[in-house]
Amino acid sequence: MIQPEQQRRAYLEAMGIDVWVPRGQVDPEVELIAASAESDSLDWSALRDTVSACTRCALHESRTQTVFGVGNPDADWMIIGEAPGAEEDRRGEPFVGRAGKLLDEMLRAVGQGRDSVFIANILKCRPPNNRDPKAEESSQCRGYLERQIELVQPKIILAVGRIAAQLLLNTDTPVGRLRGTTHTLRNTPLVVTYHPAYLLRSPSQKRKSWDDLCRARQVAREAGA
Ligand code: URA
Repeated sequence: MIQPEQQRRAYLEAMGIDVWVPRGQVDPEVELIAASAESDSLDWSALRDTVSACTRCALHESRTQTVFGVGNPDADWMIIGEAPGAEEDRRGEPFVGRAGKLLDEMLRAVGQGRDSVFIANILKCRPPNNRDPKAEESSQCRGYLERQIELVQPKIILAVGRIAAQLLLNTDTPVGRLRGTTHTLRNTPLVVTYHPAYLLRSPSQKRKSWDDLCRARQVAREAGA
């Protein structure tokens, strides 16, 4: 439950008004509201510009560039992964390595392509050495993703991999137990599947991932996609 004082501070911060908080007492939840409020009213191009100038967390120091996302901003399908890797950081586009090629194939199998969906990540900047996102990084970045979802208004969200699924659904349930059912994120149906990088290492799981994609396609169709 967010306290009124936290909310007040978050909104003041979002409006650019400095709020004095004793060192060590910044609540991640407050930062999350501030990050969301800051992005709340931005249109697509302002959001893109804001992301590319972002210095909200330390990842801006090591990135080559931000990775905003790729595809159709009016897509019915939104694919959400974890964070850019080395190749994505270099090229400024999500899922461009080997895992990305597999993701493209998976999408093609259900009649979608890079241009018909919108692909984004939880983090817009690469964590050094491809480590997992830190809680502070994902909460600072969350407002951008929330605004992207709000603007795209997808009919289905496909969360790929443990990190994306757990952060989006705010749970630590293993990905194997999150898949196989349809979740909801802000009134949008969300289906979880394995990360394509994991599928490259464990091809025997591709069958399950195919089932997940079929579920996502079915949900999207039912929503009119
Ligand atoms: N893995 C992800 O989750 N996202 C990318 O953009 C690349 C690899």
